[in-house]
Amino acid sequence: MPAFATELQTALNAVAHASQLCRTVQSTITSEVLDKRDQSPVTIADFGSQAVVCRSIDAVFPNDPIIAEEDAAALRWPENAAFLKAVCEHVHRLGITAEDEEICHWIDRGGAMKYTSRFWTLDPIDGTKGFLRKGQYAVSLALIVDGTIELGVLGCPNLPISAEEGSPIGALFYAVRGQGAFIRPLDSDAPPRPIRVTKTTDPALARFCESVESGHSAHNESAMVAQRLGLTATPVRMDSQAKYATVARGFADAYLRLPTKTGYFEKIWDHAGGIAVVEEAGGRVTDVAGKPLDFSRGRELNQNRGVIVTNGLLHDQIVAAVQAVMTAETSAG
Ligand code: AMP
Ligand code: MG
Repeated sequence: MPAFATELQTALNAVAHASQLCRTVQSTITSEVLDKRDQSPVTIADFGSQAVVCRSIDAVFPNDPIIAEEDAAALRWPENAAFLKAVCEHVHRLGITAEDEEICHWIDRGGAMKYTSRFWTLDPIDGTKGFLRKGQYAVSLALIVDGTIELGVLGCPNLPISAEEGSPIGALFYAVRGQGAFIRPLDSDAPPRPIRVTKTTDPALARFCESVESGHSAHNESAMVAQRLGLTATPVRMDSQAKYATVARGFADAYLRLPTKTGYFEKIWDHAGGIAVVEEAGGRVTDVAGKPLDFSRGRELNQNRGVIVTNGLLHDQIVAAVQAVMTAETSAG
């Protein structure tokens, strides 16, 4: 049996189920919800997704810590009873019968503060803004052992399966270290297909992705990087780790995440799943200084700043351009 086969099967089932829950909740978002800036769909899907994924991991790997974004403390407050009810209803819809307390317990399973050399990290909904906009979001799960990301799964319910017009929507991307990266439809048992990054070597011809939110990645600086490289294509702006999937499958050549404020450290669950997939598809990931990301420091990448993802071939040139722009910006004050 290949390494991490049980872990992979467990993770794929968990993320597929959680993605289904998120989809159902997203379909309830109306213009009225958006007008009122009502965050409840995000809250419900966040907790529901975390419950579903943690339940699956807990059943097979009861001793593995899970570092996830949420915990159930607030969900237990009496004023949030309606939220808890909605979360439980969505979990039950998947055919999972459990009492409220058991569902809260699963969510809390993701609240590991202490971690051992082997742990999982989960973003139950990455890209909450995209989720609300009915755009891109991802369920991201990864297994880290001794600081190495051994496995990653990304559920991308709104990404098309292929570039063909009319392609079905909803993709699962996954990778185990040393075993390649694959895409599979979320809703069918169609066989997985291997994915690969682009072969672009001329940065002037490259296309890059970045966050929609300029608060999460400096758009002004990425525009300067593009200019330095002679890169003219409009950046592909999209929420969530769907950006990693986009590079991994060769629909873009790079993903730039340039720091917007000092003191912010990237969260491990915002990157681990995506990195596993990109690296196994032949890509490369470092911080803005070209240093590897250090996943042995707990919840945050506190030894790194920003993130640069490329097809590998363009990496050094893009890092050099980012460094030149950031240095110029710092000295300009
Ligand atoms: P994105 O979908 O690329 O905009 O990234 C969403 C993630 O950005 C969220 O899950 C947050 O954890 C993370 N985030 C929040 N604030 C910042 C920040 N100042 N810089 C970078 N990422 C952030
Ligand atoms: Mg996130």
